[in-house]
Amino acid sequence: MNVRDKFNSMEYGPAPEDASEAMAWLERHKHTFGQFINGQWTKPARSFETKNPATGKVLAKVSQANAKDIDKAVAAARKAQKSWGKDAKARARVLYALARMVQKQSRLFATLETLDNGKPIRESRDIDIPLVARHFYYHAGMAQLMDDELPDRESLGVCGQIIPWNFPLLMLAWKIAPALAMGNTVVLKPAEYTSLTALLFADLAREAGVPPGVLNIVTGDGASGAAIVAHPGIDKIAFTGSTSVGRKIRAETAGSGKKLTLELGGKSPYIVFEDADIDSAIEGLVDAIWFNQGQVCCAGSRLLVQEGIADAFYTTLKARMDKLRIGDPLDKCIDVGAIVDPVQLETIKTLVAASGGDIYHASTPLPDTGCFYPPTLITGLSTADRLMQEEVFGPVLVGTTFRTPDEAVELANNTRYGLAATLWTENVNLALDIAPKLVAGVVWVNATNLFDAAAGFGGVRESGFGREGGWEGLDAYTKDRVKAPKITKIAAVTAPGSADAASMDRTAKLYIGGKQARPDGGYSATVWSPRGKVLGHAALANRKDVRNAVEAMNAANGWGRTTGHLRAQILYYLGENLSAREDEFASRINDMTGKRGGADEVAASIDRLFTWAAWADKYDGAAKGVPLRGVALAMNEPVGKIAAFASDDAPLLGLISLVAPAMAMGNRITVVACEAYPLAATDFYQVLDTSDVPGGVVNILTGRHDELAPQVGGHMDIDAVWSFSGSDLSAVIEREAATNLKRTWVNHGKGHDWSRADAKTFLSAATEVKTIWIPYGE
Ligand code: NDP
Repeated sequence: MNVRDKFNSMEYGPAPEDASEAMAWLERHKHTFGQFINGQWTKPARSFETKNPATGKVLAKVSQANAKDIDKAVAAARKAQKSWGKDAKARARVLYALARMVQKQSRLFATLETLDNGKPIRESRDIDIPLVARHFYYHAGMAQLMDDELPDRESLGVCGQIIPWNFPLLMLAWKIAPALAMGNTVVLKPAEYTSLTALLFADLAREAGVPPGVLNIVTGDGASGAAIVAHPGIDKIAFTGSTSVGRKIRAETAGSGKKLTLELGGKSPYIVFEDADIDSAIEGLVDAIWFNQGQVCCAGSRLLVQEGIADAFYTTLKARMDKLRIGDPLDKCIDVGAIVDPVQLETIKTLVAASGGDIYHASTPLPDTGCFYPPTLITGLSTADRLMQEEVFGPVLVGTTFRTPDEAVELANNTRYGLAATLWTENVNLALDIAPKLVAGVVWVNATNLFDAAAGFGGVRESGFGREGGWEGLDAYTKDRVKAPKITKIAAVTAPGSADAASMDRTAKLYIGGKQARPDGGYSATVWSPRGKVLGHAALANRKDVRNAVEAMNAANGWGRTTGHLRAQILYYLGENLSAREDEFASRINDMTGKRGGADEVAASIDRLFTWAAWADKYDGAAKGVPLRGVALAMNEPVGKIAAFASDDAPLLGLISLVAPAMAMGNRITVVACEAYPLAATDFYQVLDTSDVPGGVVNILTGRHDELAPQVGGHMDIDAVWSFSGSDLSAVIEREAATNLKRTWVNHGKGHDWSRADAKTFLSAATEVKTIWIPYGE
């Protein structure tokens, strides 16, 4: 076919990207790599092949890191951290140099990425690599500003980072840029299928001035990843990958004190209302599910289309699918490239073969060799079908219909995940009403798969926890400069030889759903004063009482939709009502503790309630300056249902310091009261009753922390657990939390200084940041 013929037929001709530079780099390394540790290559060992999935040809051999390699890498990172952590402005310059380096070598990175991963060069060249550069620029700025803007935060130390194969270099950037900016050093493991761009990055990072040991790249399979997770010298694990491995990592790091962020899978809804701009919604859908062959954690893999337009929408969609060009990923005109590996291709085939429904494969030719799978649409499945619920991680879209906006929200949220959601409508009121109702960390309005370093990305529910990007992303790579005091374990006062029985009839119950409730087990413990007086009895809650408290929190779900103004008023009212009974609470605390600090503690508790009343309507979100015509809104939303264990050392202040921020931010909370001195909490029931706190918003249990910790930690319907208990419950809570991947904030054997409101820490623990992207313009 000559040029004239092509012009006449308007057929695409081949437009292959030249891969010779990438091949030359591989050649310079003799197609064989060791580990990149302390700025040096180790001798290759235990090599395995990495292949081009589009051709099946071997690109290189990379080494499998063993425990010794991980040890060396962690030791190098630890040593390097001392000086790297000192000078934030010097780090800013290195990060800036990395951004420039990525830009200068952008074609080399893009080509190598496409060779190794199989994604179309159009994507690696125009999306992945520019976003990588953007991430380093943005975080160079964060390093520059750290001392001025984050004076209370400091580096964590050594970060172990494990990334998947779908966006190899982009995930590396998302992980290392904030870590390095905040003064940490890194041991990163790329996925075994796609190690090459990480190795190229490490090679070039030396030239950009990254000191030895600051960035260590170890290659290998899941066993190398597991060795990083288990290494005692690592302060933080950041993981992106499957929910099943994320759950394992949560359980394995339980109680270790390692900080953890998990960015996991999704089954993200793509909602099209009947007034949407259909052509744009179809193009958006192409990006949502066929971008990167659907191997995207936030892929819009679940189409929900309004019934009235469904038939027409499916018809147009199928016609568009038939026009997608599948083939050599290095060809600049290709829309859909290769699946990353034959193993993943087989997974996709098996899942689709086992599916019912109407399966439509795009009628577009596939290359004869290599890992290719056609764009696929499956309709007619029920909401409970496996493919409506499980991530395929391939170019497979499932579609169903809805009638009303409420039904759209219900279907969209009918998933154990909560990573992203897309909605299309020309009605801005509808869009802004629906977006907050979607349970997801990211929502795109009339757009999809928009990412930027300034906008937080991450999920809720089984899509993990933590955010990457933006100011909120820095939380994961810094810690409070203030050193936590020692944990205070206070044992309950035990029965003396002879008891003063005068007040034995005062038995406090539990406080569930705004009412006093008898404990299910029918047990109580006597509360003695150190002077040998019976002060009362406190109920011993059990698993059933925890379940009842969760039910009560469920019934109070309207609280999250109240205004900050209303919540502020209720918190002020609580403060006022507590101050009316100041003396009574002070003497109760004095009686229980045998000390004289009651009055101060009550005064501090009233002040704390006023502080959180003040915050209730002031923790503003942000409009992020993202490089597009539009805005990315960072909205602070409540976490949902929080369960908390109060500390031993401040019977009232320790309780109120948990309840008030949770309430202020719109959460419902169940607190297990201070174990040694529970009666300040039980006296507080009446203050709650008289302060217009709706039933179920605050529930208070009394009982043994170590008995309740596994029940609370493992409860599938709790969104977060906090523990300030004098007993170190961290390991059990974190291990049990792996069930539904709830957020945890536990004390790891440290105490807490209750004289500080510590507002920033509580604000971030009591909220989820949802990023809502709204492009604008005609
Ligand atoms: P994994 O979660 O297994 O892999 C992610 C990363 O973790 C890889 O570097 C992997 O190494 C490593 N790893 C594997 N096991 C462990 C372990 N026990 N401890 C520590 N690190 C470990 O995802 P896969 O690549 O195996 O893909 C499987 C499925 O996961 C896909 O089909 C897809 O559904 C989903 N997935 C989701 C992603 C997301 O972003 N949400 C990303 C990738 C996959 P190695 O590559 O060597 O196995």
